[in-house]
Amino acid sequence: MTERLPCRSEGCIATILPATAAKTGGYCMPCKQEIERKERQRYIEQNRRDINLYEGITDPIEVLKIMHAPLKRDPMIGYIPYPLKREEVYSALSPGEAERMLTIALDLLETGDEDTCQEILVSLVCYQNKSLESCIPTLMEHGVYYPGILFKDASARSRDELLQQVEQDSDNRNHLLLALAWIGDDQLVHQFQEWRSVPPSWAKELYVPPEAYAHEGGWELAENGSKRRLFFNDSYAIEKKVRSDAAHTAEPEPAQFLKENSASCPWCGSSLTTLADLDISHPKLRFLGLSGERLRVCTCVNCSCYETIYMDVDFHGKSEWSPANIEPEYLPKPDSEEDDRSYAAAGQSLRLADHPRNSYYAAYWTLGPAVSQIGGYPSWIQDAVYPSCSCCSQSMTFIGQLDWEQIEEYGEGIYYMFLCADCQVTATLFQQT
Ligand SMILES: [Zn+2]
Ligand SMILES: [Zn+2]
Ligand SMILES: [Zn+2]
Repeated sequence: MTERLPCRSEGCIATILPATAAKTGGYCMPCKQEIERKERQRYIEQNRRDINLYEGITDPIEVLKIMHAPLKRDPMIGYIPYPLKREEVYSALSPGEAERMLTIALDLLETGDEDTCQEILVSLVCYQNKSLESCIPTLMEHGVYYPGILFKDASARSRDELLQQVEQDSDNRNHLLLALAWIGDDQLVHQFQEWRSVPPSWAKELYVPPEAYAHEGGWELAENGSKRRLFFNDSYAIEKKVRSDAAHTAEPEPAQFLKENSASCPWCGSSLTTLADLDISHPKLRFLGLSGERLRVCTCVNCSCYETIYMDVDFHGKSEWSPANIEPEYLPKPDSEEDDRSYAAAGQSLRLADHPRNSYYAAYWTLGPAVSQIGGYPSWIQDAVYPSCSCCSQSMTFIGQLDWEQIEEYGEGIYYMFLCADCQVTATLFQQT
C-alpha cells in the first residue's frame, strides 16, 4: 500500500497520495484550489481597471444613453457609478431634453428594441409627467399597448382608435383595457358605465368586468356613473434622514413611521405597529383634506401579509382594531424568535421629504427606486387592489405606502395604506413578488 503524505498547508489534516503531491506541490486538492482562487483574486485586484463611462460627459441625454445601454460584465473592469441616480437625471431634464429622449425611444422602437424604448418612455412619464400623446400613434402602429401608463394623456383621436380596437382585438384586449383605464377621460367614464349596464359580448372572456379595469388607472365608477379618484396628486417621498436634517429638528416632523403600538393583534398576539403617524394639520399634509390633528394608520405587520386589516380611526389619533376584520383560515403563528422589531428603529430614521414630487414618480414599480411615499399613485407589485371600505363598501383612497426594501436589509414587499374619510376607517394590505 502506498504511504499517504500530509497536505503541506498549515492546519490541514488531509493526506494525499505521492502522485497527487507531485502534481500539486504537496497540497491536497481543496487547498490547491483555494490557493489558485486567491491568486486569481489577487491578480484581478492588481490588474483591474476602473472605468468611468461618464468621463467628460455633460449632456444628460448622453448620460442616460449610457445608463440604458447594457454593461459588458468583465471581472477585470470596475465601473465607476454616475454621481446621480437614473431617476434624478430624468427628473432634472429640461422640456427640450425630455423631447430628445422621446425621439431616442422611438428610434429604438424602429430598430426593434422595444424593452429599452418602453423603459425610457415610462421614465419620462414617471419622473417628468411628460405627455406621450404625440408618440401614441407610433406605439399603436408597432402594436405596443403596454404598460397602460404610456397612454395616460392620449388624444381623443387615439382614444377612439383604442376603443374601436378593443371591440375586435381579443389578443390585446387586456392591455387595451388597461390603456383605456389610464386615459379615463369623460368619454371613457361614459363607456365604462355603458359596459357596466350592458356587458359587451367579449366581457365573458375577461377575469373581471371591463369597468373593473378602472382601478389600474387609479379611479372607479361610482354608483351614479361618475368618476371617483382613488389617489392624491400630491406626493411626498418618505426618505432616510441625513445628518444635515438635524439642523431643523427643532421643527416637529409632520409624519413619523413604524412606531410600536401598545395594543396587540387579536389574531397573532404580537403588538400592532403604527405604519404612519400623520400630523394632518401640517401644511404638507393638508392635501388629504382632513380636519383634525392626527391620523394614525396602524396594522399588524405579520397578519396584513395575509389579509386586509381595517382599523377604526378618528382624526385626533384614535386607531382601533375594527370588528369588521375577518380572520383568514390560513395564518401562520409568528415565531417569537423571528418577531424581530428592528424595523421600529429603522422607522425613526425616516422622514417626509421637504418637497413634493410627481404624482406618478413611483407608479411603475420595476423602474427600481425605493418607493415609500405619502400620497401619489401607488406602486402596485401585483394587480391594483383598492380595498372596499368595511363600512360603506366603496373603494378606499390610497394615502401612502412603505417599501420594506428601505426598512430592512433583506426586506421586500410594500405595505399600502388606504382611508375612507367619510366612515373614518383605514385599511392596509401587503404585496410582494
Ligand atoms: Zn490541504
Ligand atoms: Zn397579527
Ligand atoms: Zn366608507
